[in-house]
Amino acid sequence: MDDPSKFVLEKMSEVKISDLVQPHIRKLEAYTPGHQPSGEGWIKLNTNDNPYPPSPNVTEAIWGLDGSTLRLYPDPESSRLREAVAALHSLNSDQVIIGNGSDDILNLLIRAFGGVGGAVGLSFPSYSLYPVLIGIENGQTEVIEFQREMALPIEQIRNCSSGLFLLTSPNAPTGVGFGNEEIEKILKIYSGLLVVDEAYADFADESAVRLLERYPRLVITRTFSKSYSLAGIRVGYALAAPETIGFLDRVRDSYNVSRLSQTAALAAIEDQAYFQNTVGKVKQTRDKYQVAFQKKGWFVYPSQTNFFFLEPKNAKGEANQKVAKSLFDHLYSHKILVRHFGSHVLTSSFLRITVGTESEMLALSEVINSWQTTV
Ligand code: PMP
Repeated sequence: MDDPSKFVLEKMSEVKISDLVQPHIRKLEAYTPGHQPSGEGWIKLNTNDNPYPPSPNVTEAIWGLDGSTLRLYPDPESSRLREAVAALHSLNSDQVIIGNGSDDILNLLIRAFGGVGGAVGLSFPSYSLYPVLIGIENGQTEVIEFQREMALPIEQIRNCSSGLFLLTSPNAPTGVGFGNEEIEKILKIYSGLLVVDEAYADFADESAVRLLERYPRLVITRTFSKSYSLAGIRVGYALAAPETIGFLDRVRDSYNVSRLSQTAALAAIEDQAYFQNTVGKVKQTRDKYQVAFQKKGWFVYPSQTNFFFLEPKNAKGEANQKVAKSLFDHLYSHKILVRHFGSHVLTSSFLRITVGTESEMLALSEVINSWQTTV
């Protein structure tokens, strides 16, 4: 008789790992982050990070960390940072939760509140991570599409049956901001939790933070990745009613923000003068180039962020997916990275370009001009 252990081994080798993974994970399409090139000489205008370094106080605070403390877990509550964020927004610290980037916070929101009412509501186009996070939880999406003019579909959101709605304001990838008057129209009728993802709000004219006082079902998410130039440190936060924060704390990893990250974010928030100056510079460059692109006769959504969503035209005055891709490729061949969302008619004729330094923008303009003479 054959050796039974050999039989078992053979049977086991037939078990595929893909048969063991949860079915919804098997068909999940992962989020595609913006390309991170290796090598020198790239101008990176594809991930909306800040072209300026963080406050020098951040580097100083990191160097000042006593290395021996790293053997200890960090403060699980990120208490000092919660207090500093609360003070910044004139709120109480029980209205704040800190996350490993605002992606972490969005994940917690979907884990804790997603699926009530059958799905999670979101608008399209918006941040393409949302459907991935919902997919990880095996959830359904209720998608409300913008029209080309990108006006907020207030009626549709108000009537959405999902218990959680994710709204990006200012929106990504369009850069269009929504005023509090419009957001309030939703809050007055919508019976679910409305998340306003304000990743770019520091570059905008208005923020929904003051609405928290009157609308307990509002949640605002923010990040240190853009306006504080700390994408590499991964810190974000949410502002919400204490009860909402309590539920998010229940599903959060105990030690979700490292010692290093808490220290860096705290130093950044304490240097408001540097922060204001950096944001001011980015806005100034943005406004200048917004006009410059429009002068070319190109359509650009009015940006309330640190990026443009623009529709390039070739020398014949045509704008379409092929034209956008042609400019994308031309820029790439000159080591300038931007983003092209080619899979949907609302986005495919556009490029999303992060606001860089003045010299990066000058280089971009020159390469764009050289493209226009070839197409
Ligand atoms: N929301 C939006 C709209 C974003 O564009 C981003 C960054 N890509 C995030 C949230 C996530 O930011 P963080 O780096 O804080 O995770």
